[in-house]
Amino acid sequence: MSIPTIIVERLNKNFGHSRVLEDVSFEITPGEIVALIGPSGSGKSTLMRHLVGLTCCNRDRGGRVSLLGREIQASGRLRRASRGQRCRVGYIFQQFNLVNRLSVLTNVLIGQLGRMPRARALLGRFSDEERQRALQCLARVGLEGMAYQRANTLSGGQQQRVAIARVLMQDADVILADEPIASLDPRSAREVMEILERIHAEDGRTVVITLHQVDIARRYCHRAIALKDGRLYFDGKTSELTDARLKTLYENAGLDEL
Ligand code: ADP
Ligand code: MG
Repeated sequence: MSIPTIIVERLNKNFGHSRVLEDVSFEITPGEIVALIGPSGSGKSTLMRHLVGLTCCNRDRGGRVSLLGREIQASGRLRRASRGQRCRVGYIFQQFNLVNRLSVLTNVLIGQLGRMPRARALLGRFSDEERQRALQCLARVGLEGMAYQRANTLSGGQQQRVAIARVLMQDADVILADEPIASLDPRSAREVMEILERIHAEDGRTVVITLHQVDIARRYCHRAIALKDGRLYFDGKTSELTDARLKTLYENAGLDEL
């Protein structure tokens, strides 16, 4: 059996006196596509931040998190991931996080920086071969024709596709996307989900996506992990997310979240 890509074991997180994550445990195996769902404030983003080491668990009974076979945090201690390991994880944000004044192509090339020798990365010089590869990554998200435009001239949906091309350029094995479609109109949201599904299916990359639309989670992801008030409420096939379960999951949340 292969080593799980992600192991979260009895993870606990408090911010001051408020408990944000409580005894959360799950494993994700290589090549899965998983939706992380739950009402707002249930701890989804905090959990994602744990997976990349942007947040550390509590010192007492904090639990542990392993990524790609290495423990990255345990009992309040953060272990710095090696550069090689960091390159294997790509993060996609709700607000795209592109560099506005740079071209689309340069934004994609930036995905390569972590893999370049440090001295060359500082100079920010890219080879013709790297440019060619960046154009191929843009072609995979359907934006090769926009390579030389400034990033901020693109629509939200297009900017999110550039962000996906950037993680393709990085050649990340694991893609973590926190609410990647929350700021998009329905059509752009569908395009972004289709691209994420395709790169999961074609390349075998592991993809974890936080979503607040359950119907989208059902359509694109085989498995869902649901958090409710910081606790694991459901972990299983999206097809087993029954209406009764969803009703309980969202019982204290506004109807618009469903
Ligand atoms: P979700 O992404 O599911 O909406 P979050 O992980 O963003 O939930 O937040 C979960 C809870 O943790 C919320 O109550 C939020 O206010 C709290 N929280 C998140 N980050 C911090 C922080 N840095 N300091 C204090 N409280 C925080
Ligand atoms: Mg969030």
